[in-house]
Amino acid sequence: MLKYDKNIQSIRGMHDYLPKDTVIWRYIENILITILDSYGYNEIRFPIIEDTNLFKRSIGEMTDVIEKEMYNFTDRNENNLTLRPEGTSGCVRAGIENGLFYHQEQRLWYLGPMFRYERPQKGRYRQFHQFSAEAFGQIGPDIDAELILITARCWEKLGINHHLSLELNSIGSLSSRISYRIKLIDFLEKNLSNLDHNALRRLYSNPLRILDTKNTKTKELLLNAPILSDYLDDDSRVHFSELCQLLNFLGVSYTVNPHLVRGLDYYNKTVFEWVTDSLGVKKTICAGGRYDQLVRELGGHSVPAIGFSIGLERVILLMQEINNNPILNKNIYVDVYLISIGNNSRKHAMLLSENIRSTLPSLRLMVHHGGGNIKKQFYCANKHKPQIVLIMHEKNALEKTIILKHLQSKTQEILKHDEVSERLKHILHITCNSTDNQ
Ligand code: ATP
Ligand code: MG
Repeated sequence: MLKYDKNIQSIRGMHDYLPKDTVIWRYIENILITILDSYGYNEIRFPIIEDTNLFKRSIGEMTDVIEKEMYNFTDRNENNLTLRPEGTSGCVRAGIENGLFYHQEQRLWYLGPMFRYERPQKGRYRQFHQFSAEAFGQIGPDIDAELILITARCWEKLGINHHLSLELNSIGSLSSRISYRIKLIDFLEKNLSNLDHNALRRLYSNPLRILDTKNTKTKELLLNAPILSDYLDDDSRVHFSELCQLLNFLGVSYTVNPHLVRGLDYYNKTVFEWVTDSLGVKKTICAGGRYDQLVRELGGHSVPAIGFSIGLERVILLMQEINNNPILNKNIYVDVYLISIGNNSRKHAMLLSENIRSTLPSLRLMVHHGGGNIKKQFYCANKHKPQIVLIMHEKNALEKTIILKHLQSKTQEILKHDEVSERLKHILHITCNSTDNQ
């Protein structure tokens, strides 16, 4: 076997999620999934790797993602493949390939890792996770409002709603953007000295992306730039005004940000972002928009669509920053720890634990393995912070009884095997058919 001088480490910008983290991840995922379920959305799963051309065609060649962030590689057969940088492209590809859009509307969600070769920093990683929803077959703006309502409900349930605000814009149709593009280039050409290297590079290839700049000098300049909304086509204008009216009626607050554009080329009409100031610099937690041409561009019928993606790492950072959620401080605990003294009692303890689990599926019951004296076993039990320790001596095994010890009150009682579940249920206030252990 080869011996290495240095231990092999994880790839830069890609993280392990340990048990203390996964409790939080599962808590958040459960909330999001329950909300999407309640709106009638269904889960879709598709591969993490796709043909590189899929992303090139959908995201657009002149975008950050395609130009510098993709994880591309060739497989043994010289196929050009890419680790997905986002989910919409794969979701649309899967929908077309499986006939999901054929005379049907679809409301879908998915969750999983995305990969972008970025400079790692707080809230920006090379492997990160998105929770996304996509609605196909509806021209809106009612579905646009629904997706925004869903996200608003997610923030409320996660307790971060007071730290997020909604920015909204319409980037119109492709043709209305062409006339705006000419005006914008005109304006920028007159102010070249205020443009940074990135803006200059994009001046002719993707000038709209300059609107999204983080450079303060360029930002100041853009305050006087022509505004996209002045060039919107009538259809987009009506759509946007109806969406705004709907959101007003529904009581959703938002700011219209005329500089909001998205980093991927497939968007049109409605675009939105949920942003926060609570993470040092202004950060986007969730972004979404319409992409009415994408299904057709990828070979399907003409199917209007809209979606959003939530960056889960940023949600967690925000929750940690606010730190108002008890789940963040929750230990990884068990409710009950079962110890057995003597060789013969061990198998009876395991059998009893199986019966208890069948009756109380939501109970967290850990059985001690590996034997040892009672002191050692209690030492192990305490590490898992149980409320109750069940103790089975050889004598108990023969009598079909068990000792139930309450760790807090230090009291104990002896129970018959067939009484244990009922007693635990009562003490721990467990509802029998619940699998929710939060
Ligand atoms: P940014 O402007 O921050 O680079 P983006 O426009 O590239 O974001 P999207 O493609 O819209 O991001 O992805 C949706 C969400 O996914 C973002 O709002 C963010 O919360 C999250 N996200 C994107 N890239 C990363 C990353 N490298 N690490 C962690 N989260 C990310
Ligand atoms: Mg980005």
